[in-house]
Amino acid sequence: MEFNSYNANTPKWREISVGSYLPEKLKNLSEIAHNLWWSWHDEAQELFSVIDTELWNQTRHNPVLLLEKTSHERLEELSEDENYIEKMNSVYASFRRYIDTETNHSRPSVAYFSMEYGLDQALKIYSGGLGILAGDYLKEASDSNVDLCAVGLLYRYGYFDQTLSMDGQQIADYEAQNFGHLPIEKVTTEEGKQLVIHVPYADSFTVHANVWQVNVGRIKLYLLDTDNELNSEYDRPITHHLYGGDLENRLKQEILLGIGGMMMLDELGIKKDIYHCNEGHAALINIYRLCKYIKEGLSFNEAMELVRSSSLYTVHTPVPAGHDYFEEQLFYKYMKGYTDKLGISWEELMDLGRQNPGDKNERFCMSVFACKTCQEVNGVSKLHQEVSQKMFAPIWKGYFPEENHVGYVTNGVHFSTWCAKEWKELFKEYFDEKFISNLSDESYWKNIYNVPDEKIWFLRQHMKNKLADFLKKKCTEDWLNSQANPSLGISTFSKFSSNALMIGFGRRFATYKRAHLLFTDLDRLSKIVNDPQKPVVFIFAGKAHPNDGPGKDLIKQIVEISRRPEFLGKILFVENYDMELARKLVSCVDIWMNTPTRLAEASGTSGEKALMNGVLNFSVLDGWWYEGYKKEAGWAIPAESVYQNNEYQDKLDAELIYYTLENEILPLYYERHGKDFSEGWIKYIKNSIANIAPHYTMKRQLDDYYDRFYNKLEKRFKVLSENNYAKAKYITTWKKEIASKWNDIEIKSIDTGNGLNATIKAGEEYDITIVIDEKGLDDAIGVESVITHIQNGNERIYSVIPLELISRNGNLYTFKGKSCISNAGSFKQSFRMYPKNKLLPHRQDFCYVRWF
Ligand SMILES: *Cc1c(COP(=O)(O)O)cnc(C)c1O
Repeated sequence: MEFNSYNANTPKWREISVGSYLPEKLKNLSEIAHNLWWSWHDEAQELFSVIDTELWNQTRHNPVLLLEKTSHERLEELSEDENYIEKMNSVYASFRRYIDTETNHSRPSVAYFSMEYGLDQALKIYSGGLGILAGDYLKEASDSNVDLCAVGLLYRYGYFDQTLSMDGQQIADYEAQNFGHLPIEKVTTEEGKQLVIHVPYADSFTVHANVWQVNVGRIKLYLLDTDNELNSEYDRPITHHLYGGDLENRLKQEILLGIGGMMMLDELGIKKDIYHCNEGHAALINIYRLCKYIKEGLSFNEAMELVRSSSLYTVHTPVPAGHDYFEEQLFYKYMKGYTDKLGISWEELMDLGRQNPGDKNERFCMSVFACKTCQEVNGVSKLHQEVSQKMFAPIWKGYFPEENHVGYVTNGVHFSTWCAKEWKELFKEYFDEKFISNLSDESYWKNIYNVPDEKIWFLRQHMKNKLADFLKKKCTEDWLNSQANPSLGISTFSKFSSNALMIGFGRRFATYKRAHLLFTDLDRLSKIVNDPQKPVVFIFAGKAHPNDGPGKDLIKQIVEISRRPEFLGKILFVENYDMELARKLVSCVDIWMNTPTRLAEASGTSGEKALMNGVLNFSVLDGWWYEGYKKEAGWAIPAESVYQNNEYQDKLDAELIYYTLENEILPLYYERHGKDFSEGWIKYIKNSIANIAPHYTMKRQLDDYYDRFYNKLEKRFKVLSENNYAKAKYITTWKKEIASKWNDIEIKSIDTGNGLNATIKAGEEYDITIVIDEKGLDDAIGVESVITHIQNGNERIYSVIPLELISRNGNLYTFKGKSCISNAGSFKQSFRMYPKNKLLPHRQDFCYVRWF
């Protein structure tokens, strides 16, 4: 009679991964498939694509999935194909030669942390520029054979795929990644089980994270994922989405990346000289590192010296709103447990993430924390350095923004990833064979001038035809999938010509990128694109963040415009901008266009990818182009903003875009002078390749990081840690002493002759004498004269002149110097003192300043 009730428990699933069957003769294919080396070696990709071109495209060029899905029969057939086997063996041999090369340990070793990595479209753990940069960096680290390992997160859903409804609404598709089908591997313990890291979250619970490994040539990228059945339903999704979920989930991700990432490195026995945070997301590594030194017996301040002297923080975000802030309550929930381990109070911990220590209303900012716990900070272009110096100025009080210790390394791109096969072949033919291992050396690139003009024009046209075929196929399919009228494809592509000048615009649809500028005057735009003598087509692509309403509206607007009769086949919006589509666009169009709001583009890299393919840039002088632009090698939209009002500024910039197109770009492209190509255009291409491209390779970027930061950090860390951290302890004690006496230091006298508040002649020198009572400190103070003037409405430094210590009498120190202003005008002069010690790496390392 009990049959009405139910009796069933929930099944406990066990994951079984079934490896693909590979005939013995093909087993090297699997090894190649599990190292992303294939993603930047064309010959390896060909090895996979010939197995089944259709399937290769379907799998988004994922060789692991391809091998899994290829029929038994086909594999058997290949294994009997001598040609194929020979080719495979030859690729495998060069793969092994590459992999088996001993790592070069002559440079400092680095642990690199990033929230996203854009390595290949098959591995959806990136959203945009930041990720691509990190991915390119690992590939170059591999090619340059440096000692570097990387840490990130493995997302179940990654970032979304974009489709568009017929009226241009963005639809975000999140497809779960099957980790068994990705070119990644499990990291296993000695017993052969997958390694799991148990990360403490708050005091009460632990999150269990699986450890994965991606082989990026010689470099290992370790990824953590929380989709582990040991975790609660709240914690399993921590790594489901990249930049998804709420702020609490973001904090949980950042704890995983920073603290979990460090625990994992410890577990794997990996120790590096330098810890590099690519963006502030991973800055909590420094909490872990502090705790570790403190556990060894050091004080909090001593530990801080060591952590700082081995850390670099790279900032990519030029506006404060783009940084991570956590409410105190939320931060408390997860981080309170660390105060005991750190030996500091809760307020002191919070203050590490505040611009104004003690301001209870200030949230904990990861970027501020990164600035305070990393000795070196850098922006990603020269202009972005200035922007960052200003943005972080509230942290370092007492100095002018331009004095702040923020450096820069301009972003670059990985040549072999972004240069099309056809161009690589041309370079191989005309450039020295050493070119490929000396990519940032201008002298090799100069050989482009030896290539016949026709050859370049022909290659460009070949790329354009290729793109036209690709777009026709892709757009027609995409539109059919979204139920468009089949005539749309026909009416669009009957008007689309690959002989027209092709202009590409592909990037995130954030409003600051101003994709709308081109559409300011539709009548004028229509005249431009429909000129029968000088036709133009514009190709747009890009995703808007799912929560970015204005970004999504902009896409919709462009799609709508592209459907108007006068713009059919002239303006095209292509769905789902990812690495594969980016590679197509940046290598095939004639011009790459970028129109960001000035100072909002930290660097930008897609225009650099275009460079490597003989594609010319037409951009606002912002980010990398501000320093990259050269005359007769591309076009610049002037940088100075003239209007406060954005609308006026947009109008002015739009006018400049139209004007440059009508009067410079189109006439140059279509000039023939009796030839069947434009000599002038080829000259621009050659100039751009010879004079700009060499400076924007990832090789140059990697070398810059060593020259400007890693080498310096390694050296200082060594000094501080020798003899059982003797110097770290010394400098801590010294700072403590200065801090305790700072307010007692007395300025006894300032004698400026007739300099101060006086009218002097330009070029006239006057003496300054200052006497200071250091109150028992032993020659610990520096004094300098600071002269400022107003420039572009801002008070800027005109000169900083150190005064010289000329005599000492007990505690009284006399400083003397000469001052002189060589320009006429209105100036201000003041004096300031600061603590000085040869062991300090820079002023903001111990930011004590007193202005007199
Ligand atoms: C290169 C790249 C980016 C970054 O381009 P920006 O010029 O920095 O905006 C974004 N997404 C993809 C897919 C890319 O390949």
